[in-house]
Amino acid sequence: MKIVVDQEECQGHNRCVVIAPELFDTDDYGYAHEMEGGVVPPELEEKARLAAANCPESAITIIEDN
Ligand code: SF4
Repeated sequence: MKIVVDQEECQGHNRCVVIAPELFDTDDYGYAHEMEGGVVPPELEEKARLAAANCPESAITIIEDN
């Protein structure tokens, strides 16, 4: 699984960082970006889905492995 934060959509609520600090970080302006190239380890997949579901801007895209 991978995650991508759409920089155009992100409004900097930081909910994703609160839910999954292992997967998201913020820049100096509070906007979020994915860490580790967006690669999600299996044990963090549930957190990644929770963060995406709780993003008010729907700015987080989940890309499932095939
Ligand atoms: S929850 Fe969504 S809008 Fe808020 S910082 Fe994270 S990606 Fe951006």
